[in-house]
Amino acid sequence: MEFEKQKNRLIDELRRHGASERVLDAMHRVPRQLFIPEREQNNAYADNPLPIGWGQTISAPHMVAIMCDLLDIQEGMKILEIGAGSGYHAAVMAELAGSGHVYAVELIEGLALFARDNLKKAGISNVTVLVEDGSLGLPGFAPYDRISVACAAPDIPDTLTEQLKPGGKLVIPVGKHIQELYLVTKINGLKKEAKGGVVFVPLVGKKGFPY
Ligand code: SAH
Repeated sequence: MEFEKQKNRLIDELRRHGASERVLDAMHRVPRQLFIPEREQNNAYADNPLPIGWGQTISAPHMVAIMCDLLDIQEGMKILEIGAGSGYHAAVMAELAGSGHVYAVELIEGLALFARDNLKKAGISNVTVLVEDGSLGLPGFAPYDRISVACAAPDIPDTLTEQLKPGGKLVIPVGKHIQELYLVTKINGLKKEAKGGVVFVPLVGKKGFPY
């Protein structure tokens, strides 16, 4: 019950920061503590990133909310996530997509196993976690309605924009030391909007930063 109280407090805080009720509902349905390593359990509902091993982090809840709201995820959509990490962000998008599906790509095999395990514990069945270099997207299941990138890229990879459906949307942090979150909409070419400064771990790989 302690978690429930902490979760409600966090949801109220995110609401004050302008998160939509739809996204807040989805976040309310996903138990974040199931995606957090044992030693960080006390911080499961703090609004900051937390270490998940392998030098990686689960994003802060407000960042998950902002990215989900920018993507405007609707029922039935097919979504690609680059950087599954703990699986939490994928779980929230899967709740928003309902009968849709999330393909979450992760470069580190140990984290992919962690994410799969967490999603199973949370009872979320419409996410598939795959071990791949997501800088190349995931051509096998393309095109996607939405693409969410949870690591910072050197620029917006054309491999990803090519895998978007017409009218599709992509959110991606871009930059090395100074990073900016971009919303890209595939309409009359590519419409790119800067949405503010952010801090993410790097996207490494063929279309990312070198390993
Ligand atoms: N969305 C995650 C947070 C991910 S942190 C969550 O909710 O917990 C970013 C992740 O991107 C890390 O796990 C990192 O290993 C992964 N990553 C970095 N480069 C990648 C690539 N080219 N393909 C797939 N995953 C990558």
